[in-house]
Amino acid sequence: MSCPNLEVCPFINNSDERLKDDITKYKNRFCNANYEKCARFILGNSIGEVPDDLAPDEIKRAEKLMKK
Ligand code: SF4
Repeated sequence: MSCPNLEVCPFINNSDERLKDDITKYKNRFCNANYEKCARFILGNSIGEVPDDLAPDEIKRAEKLMKK
């Protein structure tokens, strides 16, 4: 199952061409596979606010934001 946020997630829907390859990788690794492990998904469910530029694998940064 894919992430329920896929269509609205600002990180994944970023239209910057330079990020296209990275976004494809993140989609394969998280959004369409292990979205429960995505830092954005976890943080969103925890505090509700997720910085637009937080990458799915930035779990340490997400943990810090949760402790604030
Ligand atoms: S980056 Fe994370 S929150 Fe955004 S769509 Fe992918 S899995 Fe969901």
